[in-house]
Amino acid sequence: MSKGVGDLGLVGLAVMGQNLILNAADHGFTVVAYNRTQSKVDRFLANEARGKSIIGATSIEDLVAKLKKPRKIMLMIKAGAPVDILIQELVPHLDKGDIIIDGGNSHFPDSNRRYEELTKQGILFVGSGVSGGEEGARFGPSLMPGGSAEAWPQIKNIFQSIAANSDGEPCCEWIGPAGSGHYVKMVHNGIEYGDMQLICEAYDIMKRIGRFTDKEISEVFKKWNTGVLDSFLIEITRDILKFNDVDGKPLVEKIMDTAGQKGTGKWTAINALDLGMPVTLIGEAVFARCLSAIKDERTKASKLLVGPTVPEDAIHDREQFVSDLEQALYASKIISYAQGFMLIREAARSYGWKLNNPAIALMWRGGCIIRSVFLAQITKAYRDDPDLESLLFNKFFASAATKAQSGWRRSVALAATYGTPAPAFSTALAFYDGYRSDRLPANLLQAQRDYFGAHTFRVLPECASANLPVDKDI
Ligand code: NAP
Repeated sequence: MSKGVGDLGLVGLAVMGQNLILNAADHGFTVVAYNRTQSKVDRFLANEARGKSIIGATSIEDLVAKLKKPRKIMLMIKAGAPVDILIQELVPHLDKGDIIIDGGNSHFPDSNRRYEELTKQGILFVGSGVSGGEEGARFGPSLMPGGSAEAWPQIKNIFQSIAANSDGEPCCEWIGPAGSGHYVKMVHNGIEYGDMQLICEAYDIMKRIGRFTDKEISEVFKKWNTGVLDSFLIEITRDILKFNDVDGKPLVEKIMDTAGQKGTGKWTAINALDLGMPVTLIGEAVFARCLSAIKDERTKASKLLVGPTVPEDAIHDREQFVSDLEQALYASKIISYAQGFMLIREAARSYGWKLNNPAIALMWRGGCIIRSVFLAQITKAYRDDPDLESLLFNKFFASAATKAQSGWRRSVALAATYGTPAPAFSTALAFYDGYRSDRLPANLLQAQRDYFGAHTFRVLPECASANLPVDKDI
């Protein structure tokens, strides 16, 4: 093979990298594959890559030499220090204007830093969120690229060709500067935590209060998947709940109730606290996983701490009960996305990023874990008004939340009455009520702060007087 024919270099032949290479090759691009452990390149070339427009590289120099200029090199390796090490190894072999794309799950401050450092050296940097797991990588992920704007025209064709498609539009657009691509991917993951927690709460309420079997719950999810909740996560939950083990019993009931986490939900919650944004649902979703993880303590507490027992006839009208829960899930989801977009808006303001809001919702419509019909409506809301202050100010969502609220309130009340934890449903409702409150009890809180710490307070303009000026320290 002659030199300099590769359209894209890809480093990292683990599950994501291999599948992205095959995807790009299927779309007519010539990909140069490189991996630190050379045997993986050899194995890949001899098997999955056989007969495709995929070339192996034996070293970083070889990889660089086999690429067309400006070179486009995508890293799909373990996030963290390995990315810095690899960038250090790559840079001496690159020319100004070459492009390094980090497609791993990097934390956005790292991408901000890498963008700064590489920009100084004349190398273009793109931090791209990649979502959709193995299957997405192979057949169409959601791609969220951000960084050096000059890189976008160079990589746009490759990225939009390999990305998922939703209603004829690629689930990939340019997000904005610096680490904004990875930032949006982080919030996407946080929202994913929230969506999953909401579904788990609906299942738990149906099981504990409604005494539904898993098969019955699966049927409910099947029905929900034909309505406003139509989404990948509802679809897989439907299938999980009807999957039986060899003994004919639901496999899901044999799974230990302790949730793991890789940290992107936590990053989102921490960033929300840093930016002072009330992203309560993602926070509760992260904490719900933490609570699940202290299983031994919970088991001990379950024998010591008393709560209400659920009577056999707790539910009189099953249809109403299911419909209420559907509304609770839908309204809570609206709140979660409204909070996620609030956070993105504040990040853009704080970090000085101009972000492509309509494109963000569009990118999440297909290829990724949170893909849903619902996101089409969010895309429309941001297309109608790219600077929309809050999703809850959009007519469609304001009206949807209003319509859903009776069922939502009944579901939260029912869960509280019968001692079934519903932290995400409850926090969503508390946020909704707080957000629509012109007056909150923070007046008393400020008075308390001032009482013990002389923190001072501001006075309502209509109550201002000579001895109580609005803006002066009291
Ligand atoms: P991974 O298990 O996260 O990483 C394995 C790859 O990283 C291997 O190719 C490994 O090379 C390479 N690597 C590790 N340390 C290295 C170093 N110091 N220098 C050079 N290469 C190094 O692989 P993955 O699951 O395919 O994920 C790749 C990236 O995509 C990660 O950032 C991950 O978080 C992100 N991601 C994953 C998924 C998913 O569903 N798995 C979804 C979206 C995003 P060796 O073979 O030589 O060890």
